[in-house]
Amino acid sequence: TTFADLKLIEPLQKALTANDYTHPTAIQAKSIPALLQGRDVVGCAQTGTGKTAAFALPVLQHISQSEPSKKRVPKALILSPTRELAAQIGESFQSYGRFLKTKQVVIFGGVNEKPQIARLKEGVDIIVATPGRLIDLGNQGYVDLSNVGFFVLDEADRMLDMGFLPDIKRIMKQLPAKRQNLLFSATMPKAIEELANSFLDNPVRVEV
Ligand code: AMP
Repeated sequence: TTFADLKLIEPLQKALTANDYTHPTAIQAKSIPALLQGRDVVGCAQTGTGKTAAFALPVLQHISQSEPSKKRVPKALILSPTRELAAQIGESFQSYGRFLKTKQVVIFGGVNEKPQIARLKEGVDIIVATPGRLIDLGNQGYVDLSNVGFFVLDEADRMLDMGFLPDIKRIMKQLPAKRQNLLFSATMPKAIEELANSFLDNPVRVEV
């Protein structure tokens, strides 16, 4: 399989070439076609497998092909358990989206919120966030999730271990019912299966 076989648009393929990615990893080869078709996906994958590109590339492709709206509104939300992972995911979106006009913001706690608020006010297509700060900024009226058509829960097992389930549920209540969902987890204990079943619609199962 090549990235061209996966039907990725040219600006994404160009970015991948610039990154010296020659071939998709296993998780990318399995997830990208399903996600481009609009399917929900549940993936069992560790960090290091290329799971970030597995969702970032389809998200970028969907957004770049969507009807442009007058105002830039968040169309994708990626939740991460830690600020380090959120920052990495944000860098991945920046890198893979370098030949597109998409904009992203990374939101996490423990740092000044002002730059994050300023970026939200400018308008973004993609929000990468840890749950606490996202809820906090949402309560202050800076986060509009009503146009999010693509929701990713990354490292779901760690999210639950860290006690984020109530926050996740609270955030998901603000999302439109009609959307595409992706859940990635390194392990699949019963609690994760239940969570996956609670919001994924007939998902494609991907294991690597
Ligand atoms: P991740 O599992 O998403 O944290 O990615 C692990 C590392 O693999 C990151 O440094 C990526 O830049 C890199 N990577 C992801 N996909 C590919 C690919 N298809 N070819 C080469 N490197 C990749």
